Amino acid sequence: MMPELIPVLSKEDLEKSVAGIAKRISADYRHRKPILVGVLKGAFVFLSDLIRQLTIPVKIDFIRTASYGDETSSSGTVCLTKGLEIDINGEDVLVVEDIVDSGVTLRWILDYLNGLGPASVRICALVDKRERRQIDVHVDYACHVVQEGFLVGYGLDCAEDFRHLPAVYHLKK
Ligand code: 5GP
Ligand code: MG
Repeated sequence: MMPELIPVLSKEDLEKSVAGIAKRISADYRHRKPILVGVLKGAFVFLSDLIRQLTIPVKIDFIRTASYGDETSSSGTVCLTKGLEIDINGEDVLVVEDIVDSGVTLRWILDYLNGLGPASVRICALVDKRERRQIDVHVDYACHVVQEGFLVGYGLDCAEDFRHLPAVYHLKK
C-alpha cells in the first residue's frame, strides 16, 4: 500500500515559526557568540534556515548520533557516529535538533556535550513531540509542539526518503 502524506506544517508555518525562534535566540544571546550544534541528518534544513534569520554571530558544528531501533522509534541505545570538531570548552552551546520524541537521544547528547566543559547548553528543536516522552528533558526553544505521529519532510526522513520536501507531513502507512 502507498504511504499517505498528511500535511502538518506548511512552508508558511515553518517560515513563521523559524523567524520567531530566531528572534528569541538573537535576543537571548545578544553580545554573545554561541556555537550551534546541529544534529545530523534531520536538523540540517532547519539549521540552515534558522542561522540566516539570526542577528547575532554564531559558529556552526555538527554531530551525528545513531539509535538502534525500528524505523519509527528509538531503542534507547544511542551511539555517536560523528563527534564535534570545534572546541566548546567555556563556550555557549545551542543544540539544534529536528525532533525531541522520547528524549533519550537528547539526554545522551546533553551528557556528551556537558562532558566537554561548555559555559552553557540549551536546546532548540523544530518539533517537540510529547506523546512518547520518557525522559524529562527541557526544550528551551521549540518551533512547534506536536502530540503524536511520525513526521517527514523539511529534513526529516523515513528510511532516507522525504527529506527534500519543503513542508512537514504525517506519514501514514
Ligand atoms: P528520541 O530519542 O527523542 O526518541 O528520538 C530521537 C530521534 O528520533 C530524533 O532526533 C529524530 O531524528 C527521530 N525521530 C523521532 N520522531 C520522529 C519523527 O516523527 N519523524 C522522523 N523522521 N524522525 C523522528
Ligand atoms: Mg535526530
